[in-house]
Amino acid sequence: MTGGTAGNTVAGRLAEIPGISVLVIEAGKSSYGVKAISTPALATSLVESEYDWQYQATLVDRPDFKRVENAVTRGKVLGGSSSLNYYSWHRGTAAQYNEWELYGGKTWNWEACKPYFSKSTTVNTTSKPSLLPITLTNVGSNGPVKLRIVDPAPLGDAVVKAWVSKGYPLANDIFNGFAIGLTHLVASVDDGIRWSSVSFLEDKSNISVLTETKVSKIILEDQPSSGSGDKYKATGVEILGGKIIKAKKEVIVSGGVFESPHLLMLSGIGPKEELEKHGIECKVNSPHVGKNLQEHVIMPQVFRLKEGSSLDTWYRPGPQLDSATRQYDEFKTGPLASPILEFSGYMRIDERLALCPAYVLAKEKNGGKDPLGPNGTPHFEFDFVVCPTCPIMETE
Ligand SMILES: Cc1cc2nc3c(=O)[nH]c(=O)nc-3n(C[C@H](O)[C@H](O)[C@H](O)COP(=O)(O)OP(=O)(O)OC[C@H]3O[C@@H](n4cnc5c(N)ncnc54)[C@H](O)[C@@H]3O)c2cc1C
Repeated sequence: MTGGTAGNTVAGRLAEIPGISVLVIEAGKSSYGVKAISTPALATSLVESEYDWQYQATLVDRPDFKRVENAVTRGKVLGGSSSLNYYSWHRGTAAQYNEWELYGGKTWNWEACKPYFSKSTTVNTTSKPSLLPITLTNVGSNGPVKLRIVDPAPLGDAVVKAWVSKGYPLANDIFNGFAIGLTHLVASVDDGIRWSSVSFLEDKSNISVLTETKVSKIILEDQPSSGSGDKYKATGVEILGGKIIKAKKEVIVSGGVFESPHLLMLSGIGPKEELEKHGIECKVNSPHVGKNLQEHVIMPQVFRLKEGSSLDTWYRPGPQLDSATRQYDEFKTGPLASPILEFSGYMRIDERLALCPAYVLAKEKNGGKDPLGPNGTPHFEFDFVVCPTCPIMETE
């Protein structure tokens, strides 16, 4: 398996079984000792860096929207996208997981998944008091990923006041399967550093990690008489350059939303006509592989603030950044320990959507059920970010 968020998590769990040995094969470099990854406030400096696959998305050309190329960030480093992401820790809603049951069966609904979320994390309950009431009992207390409530930043209280003044609700427990309202975030930052999925690998002598090693193909071998009904069995992987690594038990594909389908298709698993176009022998005709990607759009709004009301003041080269750097280097505290996002507000906009003909049609086609937010799931997330830039400094 590859060394991203899901891969390391599963590797760590499998390694708890006595007698099992796990090999993690990661295309990117190791994340150990990389300051831009461990320092919370430097997260945005990783976009289009050597730790990013550096994909570009071409947005759809429409009369009201200019076609542009846009960076799509995906972690290419040990820890995968959990080594690059923006730390906000939440689970989504019960309704979203319950939709998985249709595809994955009874073990893939909210109730079945819930214990595993808590198993992943330890939340630091000694963090500074939150600006909003927040319930941490459902988060987790004994897992490898460390979390804490984000320290209140300048302007936080004004955001809460503005939100409440509009009559919008507060959400004090977004971990219970329902999330509507404004919440003070819990982040995968503690002791002043990023906690990525790499923490699942620590202290596990039965896990081996190969970095800077790209898997180019899954080896599929004929198994005509296995009785399972499957014609092929995955028995290992081929590494870029031709080296073969055989698996004693099984191969787990965890390359993320772009690379997993890519790897499956290179291995002959995917839509037959698509594979044939590229001269790849189709071993398993699986028409959905590489299809139906969904992505969320972000609409940033940037406000000019009075000097000192955001963390920007600390992030421009000069004496304040120098002092923040010294504080961070010595104590792992201060502006550089900030995980960027402080609040998220989760909202539904049914009344507005009802005025949108494309939405009304999509809902009709979906048997009258909301196609965007099933069973009360929020339609959008409002993120309050304490600075539009990231510290301008030498990171390595
Ligand atoms: C910039 C950014 C900010 C985000 N912020 C948040 C947030 O605040 N909160 C939140 O909940 N989510 C956030 N996300 C989303 C979240 O981080 C991802 O959804 C999640 O990490 C994806 O996990 P994954 O295991 O599917 O893939 P990844 O973690 O991306 O892992 C895939 C791994 O496989 C490796 N790999 C791929 N192909 C190969 C190959 N052929 N050979 C060897 N290795 C290979 C990759 O290099 C990578 O390490 C953010 C994502 C990004 C990019």
